[in-house]
Amino acid sequence: MDITYRLEQKRRVLGDFPGPKSLELAARRAASVAKGVASSVPVYVADADGGVIHDVDGNSFIDLGSGIAVTTVGASDAAVVGAVKEQVEHFTHTCFMVSPYEGYVAVAEKLNRLTPGEHEKRTVLFNSGAEAVENAVKIARVATGRDAVVAFDHAYHGRTNLTMGLTAKAMPYKHGFGPFAGEIYRAPMSYPFREENPQITGKEAAERAILLIQKQIGADQVAAIIIEPIQGEGGFIVPADGFLPRIAEFAKENGIVFIADEVQSGFCRTGEWFAVQHEGVVPDLITTAKGIAGGMPLSAVTGRAELLDAVHGGGLGGTYGGNPVACAAALAAIETMDSQDLRGRAREIEATVKRRLGALRDELGADSIVGDLRGRGAMLAIEFVKKGSATTTKEPDADATKKIAEYCLKEGVIILTCGTYGNVIRLLPPLVISDELLADGLDVLEAAIRANS
Ligand SMILES: *Cc1c(COP(=O)(O)O)cnc(C)c1O
Repeated sequence: MDITYRLEQKRRVLGDFPGPKSLELAARRAASVAKGVASSVPVYVADADGGVIHDVDGNSFIDLGSGIAVTTVGASDAAVVGAVKEQVEHFTHTCFMVSPYEGYVAVAEKLNRLTPGEHEKRTVLFNSGAEAVENAVKIARVATGRDAVVAFDHAYHGRTNLTMGLTAKAMPYKHGFGPFAGEIYRAPMSYPFREENPQITGKEAAERAILLIQKQIGADQVAAIIIEPIQGEGGFIVPADGFLPRIAEFAKENGIVFIADEVQSGFCRTGEWFAVQHEGVVPDLITTAKGIAGGMPLSAVTGRAELLDAVHGGGLGGTYGGNPVACAAALAAIETMDSQDLRGRAREIEATVKRRLGALRDELGADSIVGDLRGRGAMLAIEFVKKGSATTTKEPDADATKKIAEYCLKEGVIILTCGTYGNVIRLLPPLVISDELLADGLDVLEAAIRANS
């Protein structure tokens, strides 16, 4: 990595926070912003670069969340900033459905090349991950003439009506927001840490899901199976080896569209361009967003030409989909990922974090609150359980998880939690974070875990 940072890459906590300026903004917010939008941290951002976020009171936080896996190249990558400036000076919008432009086409070409599989591909662009997922389902339904969609336990696919239906967790994502779209079915996931039979293989876990699909729906009724190759909000669950390939194979045998939702796991995050590549799986459709455009809102569905082209002209689109500024940002962000070898960087981060947290787990012993340590690349997680239950009941400890995240924040480290049981800390640092900053962040996290053990 050869990166010049604009802001000093140092953690700095000046005193009590939220500071006065953040408190003032919080008061204005309470009187103006809907309560339903929650924020993980109570400080307001003034600037961000590389691995740090500066707040309005002069504190500098280490960012281990990347705005939920978005700022993979940093929040103000020089190439992205340059490309955005260049584009806004020409045109901010024309609407691709009205008067098209090259940036959209160039992003489609790029995604068709980067996504797994040598087959002929097409891409369509949108604004958010949920929108990409909705459209992947629309495409699969038109292409197959079937209705049913299979999603998995612990899945997260978004907050719009169809994607809420696909999402597994009720609180806070679905509670009270029904009725949900029909013809959505939920299959059991491979969740190695919480399997009743710890010996179950990935293939066996896949057969368990397949049996449910065959018995409760009928394979010939299924338009699509959608899965996150590593689940995000659901707890950074990495299915056992062999699970994804068997599900993909079953889909192929039965004319079902296999959709990999790589909105969170894509774009170098796991040490490959896409997480399915760790097991050589080639999805029919792949949904991307989050890390795609250096922080600008953009999403995509990429996949087999015959599936995307099955949709009638005018059937796909949206006013802002593939906005020219977002497209310029995406091309620059992908260029940075390539030139800085951020896939390699993700693997380095994995090695560092696993070495350090693995040593801490060994030190704390088998009955500590550290139940599981998992993930790939810079998409890593610790699942916390009640002390003494790690090898038996594995009782989730959401309380300790929350305290650990709060401790980190007070010390100047932004850390996100997730998981069906709220007991997972997920690490999603920008891939451009420096070794020193990452080490400092891990020092704080380790101290937080010790303090709560
Ligand atoms: C975040 C996320 C979404 C939804 O993306 P939005 O841009 O928030 O609509 C969908 N799928 C996965 C796997 C995600 O992590």
